[in-house]
Amino acid sequence: MILFKEAASLTEHINKLKQKGYSIGFAPTMGALHYGHISLIEKSKNTCDITVSSIFINPTQFTDAGDFEKYPVTLGDDILLLTKAGCDVLFLPSIAEVYPNGTSAAQHFEIGEIEFLLEGKFRPGHFQGVCQVVDRLLNIVKPGKLFMGQKDYQQCLVVKRLVQLTDLPVDIITVETLREASGLAMSSRNLRLNEQQKKDAAGISKMLQYIKQNIPTILFSELEKYARNYLLGSGFTKVDYVSIADAATLHPVRSIKEGRKLVVLIAAFIGEIRLIDNVALAD
Ligand code: AMP
Repeated sequence: MILFKEAASLTEHINKLKQKGYSIGFAPTMGALHYGHISLIEKSKNTCDITVSSIFINPTQFTDAGDFEKYPVTLGDDILLLTKAGCDVLFLPSIAEVYPNGTSAAQHFEIGEIEFLLEGKFRPGHFQGVCQVVDRLLNIVKPGKLFMGQKDYQQCLVVKRLVQLTDLPVDIITVETLREASGLAMSSRNLRLNEQQKKDAAGISKMLQYIKQNIPTILFSELEKYARNYLLGSGFTKVDYVSIADAATLHPVRSIKEGRKLVVLIAAFIGEIRLIDNVALAD
């Protein structure tokens, strides 16, 4: 695996590979890697000649400075995991390399109302930060395919919108969520949970499955209320949302309609650790 810290040298390297006709797959991350991240690398390796990953904890997407400062860093292990997975290139930029004009000068993207729903409502400015970093990384790496996890469902929709808006020639491939045996979605933030909290955290996926199974027979509002109360009664300290939503717009939905795809999304806290997860429902 070749490691780059400078954007210009990485772009030069990629340009040479592209001139030779190689296709480029890209899986950006914030590090503290787990097998969910590695599944993106594997998907890329299955379909692209060269796989690039990046580790960059993007300050502009954090609304809570404490969360940014406490974000887990496990760089040595990350490099081992990526090497073992056969990742070809790792980009490890500094903040100045990603934001040469400073973070406050970063561009604003008009991505529409998706910016303000669910995650956007509880983390104002978060999706602008995501767009800023993804736009910059895509312009440095210039991949043909971008691999992203369905775990961050709204982020996938936002980045699809960004790519439409900026006309970047990249296909977005959404990769299904990798889970622990308990159902808990793998996440870098799980590293901050103790054993009991980790057990409790599986409540989110339990409630997603509960809603999925009962959606044909129980009122949507009742399902959301049940899940919220269940989480608050089993180790979660705060629930930001439990939402049965339209899979394309993320507007809340109250009934099943033919042809409308649905997704159930949950965000909740265990102590100060905020976890998110979702499940898509069959038509
Ligand atoms: P992050 O490092 O959290 O920014 O995540 C980097 C990428 O990995 C994003 O596209 C995530 O959606 C994806 N990802 C995170 N967790 C998982 C998981 N459990 N399964 C699959 N992909 C994931």
